Amino acid sequence: MSPTGPAPRPDGWPDPNERTCDDCGHVWFAGERRHEYADVEAASPEDSDVVCVLCRRQRERPRSAERYEGF
Ligand SMILES: [Zn+2]
Repeated sequence: MSPTGPAPRPDGWPDPNERTCDDCGHVWFAGERRHEYADVEAASPEDSDVVCVLCRRQRERPRSAERYEGF
């Protein structure tokens, strides 16, 4: 298995693990699945959703399908 790496986090943004997942309400703690910013191009971390890796993968499914179709 080779999961995609974590999304790059812009400088100065707090650790997304400190926020709950906006999709499923998952709360991170050591050993649990990571959280990531859903929109790293948002103006500020507050403008971006934070999602756990499971929800992030769900959100990305349409996008990767598009990418595959374009190939
Ligand atoms: Zn989640």
